[in-house]
Amino acid sequence: MKIGIGFDIHILKKGRKLILGGIEIPFNYGLYGHSDGDVLLHALSDAIAGALSKPDIGTLFPDTDPKIKNISSKIILGKYLSFVKELNMKFSNIDMVIIAEEPKLQVWYEKIKKSLSLFLNIPQDCIGIKAKTTERTGLIGEKKAIACWVVVLFE
Ligand code: MG
Repeated sequence: MKIGIGFDIHILKKGRKLILGGIEIPFNYGLYGHSDGDVLLHALSDAIAGALSKPDIGTLFPDTDPKIKNISSKIILGKYLSFVKELNMKFSNIDMVIIAEEPKLQVWYEKIKKSLSLFLNIPQDCIGIKAKTTERTGLIGEKKAIACWVVVLFE
């Protein structure tokens, strides 16, 4: 078995789309980044990198590379899924915590799960998702950023 952990945080900006787990969530702000800013897919990609002892996403997809400006984070995750395939590993489960003051994400759990389930080719009951606030404290509590933790287990 192999376990990996990933974390990411992005700043919320007006005029950006909010993309989480590969789906668009209607909101007045979106996550700013060199890519589409999908913190969930970034944390997931880094968790896979950790489990499989592969370079992190900042190494393989540096934010100084103009060729990857505004790319979908699905392309980033796709690279890490190719490592999973190469090493003949199988997802046991993934678990994640999204930390956001707003928007409220509970209504989006099923859609995010479905998106990840299709992308990772794993059953939805192998995906855990939770959203937490920071009780209105700090950067996230002031609605200036969204962060995400992800743990993956492979067998
Ligand atoms: Mg990121």
